Amino acid sequence: MVKQKKPADPGKLDRIVAEARRNREQREAGYREQALKLYPWICGRCSREFTRANLQELTVHHRDHNHDNNPPDGSNWELLCLYCHDNEHARYLDEPQGSAGAGRRQEQGASHNPFAGLKDLLKDGD
Ligand SMILES: [Zn+2]
Ligand SMILES: [Zn+2]
Repeated sequence: MVKQKKPADPGKLDRIVAEARRNREQREAGYREQALKLYPWICGRCSREFTRANLQELTVHHRDHNHDNNPPDGSNWELLCLYCHDNEHARYLDEPQGSAGAGRRQEQGASHNPFAGLKDLLKDGD
């Protein structure tokens, strides 16, 4: 079997996007399952215990906040209840490094007009 390379395939991008989405969904379902196998069903903050009945309220938190960082040993995962998970992320957002867009907004607000002096320069000739 030899794979032929076909240059243009209009449906290709759609397939890639769909596949990437599927992979991501599978991966996300995968790490939750793995984390639940690895750790006891207890919130890491408030120590609330979970059973199959309320397991959907127990979430997997990524310690470094990078959802793509899923080491199989679980070192980046932490099981948190919905409330503690919210708190954890709210705290993270309060930290300066969490607001990457703030600096850009400030720059825009303080933007000086590069042509501000141009009128005066042109006026000089009068
Ligand atoms: Zn909790
Ligand atoms: Zn989280």
